[in-house]
Amino acid sequence: FLERSTERAEIPNISFSDVAGQEGAKREVRELVEYLKEPDKFRRLGAEIPRGILLMGPPGTGKTLLARALAGEAGVPFYTISASEFIEVFVGVGASRVRNLFAAAKKNAPSIIFIDELDSIGRTRGTGLGGGHDEREQTLNQILAELDGFTGREATLVLAATNRPDVLDPALLRPGRFDRHVNLDLPDREARLAILKLHAAKVPLASGVDLEQIAGGTPGFAGADLKNLVNESAILAAREGSENVDLRHFDEARDRVMMGAERQLIFQP
Ligand code: ATP
Repeated sequence: FLERSTERAEIPNISFSDVAGQEGAKREVRELVEYLKEPDKFRRLGAEIPRGILLMGPPGTGKTLLARALAGEAGVPFYTISASEFIEVFVGVGASRVRNLFAAAKKNAPSIIFIDELDSIGRTRGTGLGGGHDEREQTLNQILAELDGFTGREATLVLAATNRPDVLDPALLRPGRFDRHVNLDLPDREARLAILKLHAAKVPLASGVDLEQIAGGTPGFAGADLKNLVNESAILAAREGSENVDLRHFDEARDRVMMGAERQLIFQP
């Protein structure tokens, strides 16, 4: 049951308009759409396309969202693997899972492979408890082997996300591997407003609710926090049987979301 012969992929039903703010990151990723749509046009001219793209930024800034939006825009299958899946599995499973995933993605190219939380397997090798032969290391070695195994003709892009680029094994960052880096930042006030507008679009807001004011009062919030804020506010309002969401709900929800964020900080290793 551990070997998966068929990797399943979805073509995400989202586009770049679902990613608010992050203009710089969107611009860089947008260039890849054309290639995924018409790889032959680029191949004919011998153009080299980046293979591995590393999305770097704090938790909840939209790295997964942006990768899915790229697949959605290009209309290609999105194969995903979360590096934390490999914690506490049997030895060898991570490597074979990686092998199967790459094989399936290449077979169905053009396609995208997305590796979430790359830092949880991609930490510098030789630091594991298993004397350098642990599961994590085997999985990492398999990822490196797969990246090196591309001939340059496959129209499969490998995107990976990390919020700890500083701990990554330098081998991952060498030319031909994750050599292209895209930064996602915590949103500024204007970007927070754009994110709030997007997530509040289907929420009936009371007339006193000014999203601009809320954007101003949420410095340090990531996109995921703002999404939570809107959702928690709506839940509070629904519990009260309100017709719409008012400022009081937002205030209470903001305290909850902030407590959640602090909890994360306290318990992070
Ligand atoms: P992590 O590092 O924790 O995996 P991430 O950077 O991959 O986080 P996502 O998982 O993409 O972040 O974000 C979670 C959710 O937060 C998204 O599905 C989306 O609903 C919302 N979100 C995050 N950033 C944005 C954004 N820029 N615009 C709109 N929604 C956003």
